[in-house]
Amino acid sequence: MKRGICTVIHHHDVLIIGGGLTGLRAALRISDAGLDGAVVSKVHPLRSHSVAAQGGMNASLGNLEGEGGTKDSWKSHAFDTVKGSDYLADQDVVERMCREAPTAVIELEHMGMVWSRLEDGKIAQRPFGGAGFPRTCYAADRTGHNALHTLYEHVVGRKISVYEEFFVTSLITEGGRCIGCTALEIMTGGVHGFLGKAILMATGGFGRIFNKSTNALINTGDGQALALRAGGLLKDMEFVQFHPTTLYGTNILISEGARGEGGTLLNKDGERFMERYAPHSVDLAPRDVVARCIEQEIAEGRGYDGGYVHLDLRHLGVERIVERLPGIRQIAMDFAGVDPIQDPLPVQPGQHYSMGGIDADINGETKLPGLYAAGECSCLSVHGANRLGGNSLVETVVFGRLVAEKIIEDVANAPTPNDTQAKAAIRGINDRIEGIIRREGGDRFVNVKDAMTTTMSNKFGIFREKRTMQDGLNEIKKIQEKISYVSFQNKERKVNQALVRFLELENMLLLAESVARGALAREESRGSHTRTDFPERDDRNFLKHTLVGFRDEKMFVSYQPVTLGTFEPKERVY
Ligand SMILES: Cc1cc2nc3c(=O)[nH]c(=O)nc-3n(C[C@H](O)[C@H](O)[C@H](O)COP(=O)(O)OP(=O)(O)OC[C@H]3O[C@@H](n4cnc5c(N)ncnc54)[C@H](O)[C@@H]3O)c2cc1C
Repeated sequence: MKRGICTVIHHHDVLIIGGGLTGLRAALRISDAGLDGAVVSKVHPLRSHSVAAQGGMNASLGNLEGEGGTKDSWKSHAFDTVKGSDYLADQDVVERMCREAPTAVIELEHMGMVWSRLEDGKIAQRPFGGAGFPRTCYAADRTGHNALHTLYEHVVGRKISVYEEFFVTSLITEGGRCIGCTALEIMTGGVHGFLGKAILMATGGFGRIFNKSTNALINTGDGQALALRAGGLLKDMEFVQFHPTTLYGTNILISEGARGEGGTLLNKDGERFMERYAPHSVDLAPRDVVARCIEQEIAEGRGYDGGYVHLDLRHLGVERIVERLPGIRQIAMDFAGVDPIQDPLPVQPGQHYSMGGIDADINGETKLPGLYAAGECSCLSVHGANRLGGNSLVETVVFGRLVAEKIIEDVANAPTPNDTQAKAAIRGINDRIEGIIRREGGDRFVNVKDAMTTTMSNKFGIFREKRTMQDGLNEIKKIQEKISYVSFQNKERKVNQALVRFLELENMLLLAESVARGALAREESRGSHTRTDFPERDDRNFLKHTLVGFRDEKMFVSYQPVTLGTFEPKERVY
């Protein structure tokens, strides 16, 4: 038998690729329906990036009053989300999420999730950027940790199959329908086949194509690349969120919860500069606005040497910092040697979130029959051109459940795939992997990866412009050629991390190109996409979603209308 060939083909009703909040929430719903769902994940589910989420999850529970004693509602949540998205979000999808958000939070509560509490015992809520009410439910600054552990306990309790440390390498299609995937078992180096009547992609974001990122190293956008190669489309890839406050030097996230609790941004003159840019919301304007303002302060010489400003928490007092922001304090002390109780934190913007992703409709259905997508890897589109803080966690659990419900409906009539295509796909992937491992010479992996991340940060950062972006795209095309010659020393199949990193890099380079092409084609400024050569939002020509796909081995760009609704596009004032 050839090295690495594994004859095992696993059969399940539904395959869920990804063990983060989206994947686990979907797995539980599928199990509720009596179906055999299996989670396939390249890391142990508890190491999924969701575990790192800090600040909280938005839902209009209305546990605290807004200005003048007003009460929150799903409609206010929807309005803030659409306005925050710079009117690019699909309003039917936003409405669905905001209506379902309170149920999703209470569901987690009933599953045993520990939330922070108000004095009256209700779930605590804090103000977040771009939100008209204190709407963000939280568990100190470890919300993702608590939520993921809660869901995982239920997955274990119900004995749902989890294939952990299986790296999905391709989607298997038959007659234009997605019927499964191949995956490298990292421990043994064997390639397995997985077949199902429906496949849910829940593989998270692709932040690691940039060099200054808050994302875990595993956020390499594999799912988006797999979908693209199998004939799916990616939507709005140019909209990349830069979080205003990442720790200077390491770019570890300093949650918006810190400003939600009352933290303030100061330039090197000690000025609370956000008062100038956003007189009403000040430090709690949406992320695209605050990140741009910080960059501008730094560019105009009002930042500190090296490129950062200060986030001051000292006035919150010891008790509040220790109780509500314990993780942030620890991160600051460990990684910057600064205790926020005594000193302000040095912060700068860093890549944080991918608004774009696999093009899917309100039910998570993609253009490839049999393939569904939800969570950060998808673009349904809830966040449009800019995501509000706290809206991603709620998206994962709301659409994890809702897309699973659509799958449950659809698999009743879906064909049962047979093994023929899977066997051929396993052989194909195995040969490819052997070819990669046996290569000698060429560039070093790390140089190629650094070239990509530096190009993306320098040429497709917060401020963008045609000539620089065209240079960036040319660079990315050259780097894509280089990767065909990259080799590494480890020639083993077992636990070959170099091989996994290489496969991820191939995926990342594809996504880098899709961001570049989308950004070049969008000749306007909207949300996180700021063109210095086209500084205005242009609703007449660009109130539409960008799509990228492959035709004849080439990436193409096209467009699709935005679903509008109650909220008419207006100028955003904060
Ligand atoms: C530091 C940080 C803090 C954040 N805080 C908040 C917050 O407070 N509130 C909020 O709303 N949002 C927050 N976000 C965003 C939010 O956490 C994420 O968008 C969300 O958790 C993504 O969940 P997910 O289920 O889509 O994917 P993930 O949790 O990223 O899970 C992806 C899964 O896919 C698997 N996978 C990926 N590729 C493969 C492959 N090739 N083969 C097999 N498996 C694969 C991984 O193993 C993993 O299990 C934060 C983001 C960051 C970076």
